[in-house]
Amino acid sequence: MKLAILSDVHGNLEALEAVLADVAASGADEIACLGDFVGYGASPNECVARLEPLVAVAVLGNHDVAALGRLKLGRFHSDAATTARWTMERLEPARRAWLEPLPYSISWHGHRVVHATPSEPEEWHYVLSIEDAQYEFAAFGERLGFIGHSHVPGVFETDGAHTGYVRTREVSLKPGRRYIVNVGSVGQPRDGDPRAAWLLYDEPADRIEHRRVEYDIESAAARIRDAGLPAFLAERIKWGE
Ligand code: ZN
Repeated sequence: MKLAILSDVHGNLEALEAVLADVAASGADEIACLGDFVGYGASPNECVARLEPLVAVAVLGNHDVAALGRLKLGRFHSDAATTARWTMERLEPARRAWLEPLPYSISWHGHRVVHATPSEPEEWHYVLSIEDAQYEFAAFGERLGFIGHSHVPGVFETDGAHTGYVRTREVSLKPGRRYIVNVGSVGQPRDGDPRAAWLLYDEPADRIEHRRVEYDIESAAARIRDAGLPAFLAERIKWGE
């Protein structure tokens, strides 16, 4: 199987459409979405509706939970809280009904799938350091864990004794090693590269590829401004930070 893993779409329909075209071209057999379907971007309903029939599995992100009214917005920075309120008011009942029962963490083809961390998927911690990764490796049983949340693609590898981190575009996985793979963000990359990010895992080859896709950033930014959402969010997607 070739698996496509998408995360942090954040209501950016232009980025999502470009990624879905690349997913189709890649020959991926199944798609997983690691949450944050909504928040920041101006097309939350369109993004959820587009993904509903396409994803084999999906989990909730903190911005989804906020839009469902299940997260205290005091935990968000002001722009995030503003868009969470905006999204909550506009989220269509059918989209809400689809998001509502999604889990926080699941096993898919024998791989752990979460938005934030395997250890406490409802607490929205980040995996940013080797120490964070070592703690998380101990918290799940599968060989591979796929995560999002930081919007920075990268791979933690451990042999049990030593843990390392790489940010190369392709990584050939090694037998006997375990991995936590951050797949990056479709709709709001924060690694300095504004192109939409997603991850292709070729299971038979045991190789992952961080894919990047150009998309119409100006249209997505215009949509954010036209919606009356914070102008900073329109600028941010141009910088990719
Ligand atoms: Zn996010």
